[in-house]
Amino acid sequence: MIEIHILASGSTGNAALFQFGSTSILIDAGISARRIANGLKAVGSDVRAIDAILLTHEHSDHIKGVEVLARRFQIPVYSRAKTWERLPFRDNIPGRCCCLLDDTMKIGPVDLECFRISHDAVDPVGFTFHYRQRKLAFATDVGSITKTVVDALSGADVAVLEANHDREMLAKGPYPGFLKQRISSGRGHLSNDHSARILAQIKMKPGLRVFLAHLSQQNNRPDIAEDTVARYLRKQGCDVGREIILHQTHPQQAVGCRVQSWLNQPRP
Ligand SMILES: [Zn+2]
Ligand SMILES: [Zn+2]
Repeated sequence: MIEIHILASGSTGNAALFQFGSTSILIDAGISARRIANGLKAVGSDVRAIDAILLTHEHSDHIKGVEVLARRFQIPVYSRAKTWERLPFRDNIPGRCCCLLDDTMKIGPVDLECFRISHDAVDPVGFTFHYRQRKLAFATDVGSITKTVVDALSGADVAVLEANHDREMLAKGPYPGFLKQRISSGRGHLSNDHSARILAQIKMKPGLRVFLAHLSQQNNRPDIAEDTVARYLRKQGCDVGREIILHQTHPQQAVGCRVQSWLNQPRP
């Protein structure tokens, strides 16, 4: 059984549980350790069952809970070498929990690959996982559409993909100019339109489930993200709801699905 639970997703904090049989992987820990522990309990898991924490990059919305989780529960933390250098708490993490994130790795029975993404961090990555003929992909904090990202999502059964902002909401919103510029730059975040365009370019495995993730609380809404992506894909002739199933995510509320019960509704 594969399960995915997005515990929190958005500019205010990110953490996702990918569970492959008895192997549990947490991607990012950008909310407090307490919230992560409670979130895991709520979806039937336990913080003590986490085998590895994978870090995408060093921004605070991805690392807030890492130090406490590693110290208190001795969970191995995997991060790129350059990213480790940027982690302010690295000296407080027990040595045996400091692990290097290689380009390809195995965690238990799961084959993991990192891929480069364009974002204003030192060595930001996304992930693909292969487990029992299933492929899963994770890509947030993506500044531009690249072949690497398109390839990573191609053929996946489940993908977590950033849909950070609605372009008009960002343009008209309250953020200062430099921040608007940073977000919409090629090393910032994907808009809902970008996210749709990536999905239109991938080799789509029918029944692909996509979690639209890392939504800005100021410049996006879950329903707007889903509508924008669905409208674009329908225009391209895609049967949204059958060929591709879109899931909304929320900053405060966990969402998830079990991969082997494809046709069931996602768990609330
Ligand atoms: Zn970031
Ligand atoms: Zn982020």
